[in-house]
Amino acid sequence: VSGTGKKWRPWLCAIAVAAASGSAGCTATLERPEFDARTLSARVVGLRSEARASYALIQKHIEDVGYQLAHSGAPICGEAVAPLLGASLARRNDFVLHAKKAQVEAAFGVGDRVKVFAVAGGSPAERAGLRAGDEIVAVDGRSITRTKHVFEALRRSSSGDPLFRVLREGTAHSLSLPRELGCDSGLRVYVSSSIDTSSDYNERDVWVPTGLVRFVKNDDELAIAIAHQIAHRLVGSFHRLQDEPRIDSLALVLSARAGFTITHAAGFWDRVAAEQPWKIPLATGGHPVDHGALELRAPVIRASVAEIQNLIAAGKPITTATSALR
Ligand SMILES: [Zn+2]
Repeated sequence: VSGTGKKWRPWLCAIAVAAASGSAGCTATLERPEFDARTLSARVVGLRSEARASYALIQKHIEDVGYQLAHSGAPICGEAVAPLLGASLARRNDFVLHAKKAQVEAAFGVGDRVKVFAVAGGSPAERAGLRAGDEIVAVDGRSITRTKHVFEALRRSSSGDPLFRVLREGTAHSLSLPRELGCDSGLRVYVSSSIDTSSDYNERDVWVPTGLVRFVKNDDELAIAIAHQIAHRLVGSFHRLQDEPRIDSLALVLSARAGFTITHAAGFWDRVAAEQPWKIPLATGGHPVDHGALELRAPVIRASVAEIQNLIAAGKPITTATSALR
């Protein structure tokens, strides 16, 4: 290292002197940065709390949009409905796969219990008095050790208001969740720079990455993306590309019913395709893809948007009666 340093130092010196002629020669100016451990530690605590607040804000955003879609979509979702929660939940193991447990705990203040990060406005969770920071320990007498258990418990509850047992700052509370049926989506938020919503085959929940909130231009786009995944769950199709136009149409119906503007939908998918063309190609053929080629989807999206706009203009209810769904 020192040999290389000796070779290069004259070069660097010459450049430095040329750039700042008149400076006092070419002595090393690198100094050990001064820091005060206490100030630095306070700054780390401050940044950590900013990060948590920013994360909670993203969760709230996703939960608000997801709740509106699931709530307004109830008549469209037919049999595929379940009691809605309207709260964003996570426990330690829900975070980045390879992160160390202690790091996640320190960064997000979350341990083995299922914690509430955000509550959607007007949702059953809000009406029940559930708050960010609460830890859910049981639903209807069954203990909750994983996040998906909460949504499973809701799906199981046949009638009446599900009873939540929560810990709030160490004190136990019982909260009764007003029963309200909506599209069964079990919305889950995960920390990732990805822009893809997803569902897995065994768990019925819809996963939304925090990166999507940074990508979308507004809530209308966020709604289109989340509704698309709810529609995938409704149709029960994940790899049959011939179902994709139908899923797009259903997603537009769900978004419009929830009061979101849908006129930008085709443009939104163009942007998604431009961001990751290996997932949504322009044309069919070639390798299998996740969500169908734009050449198949775009005409259906445009036709569905026009039909839904006509229904809105005529003051008619927005039902599944768009061409792609008949
Ligand atoms: Zn799709």
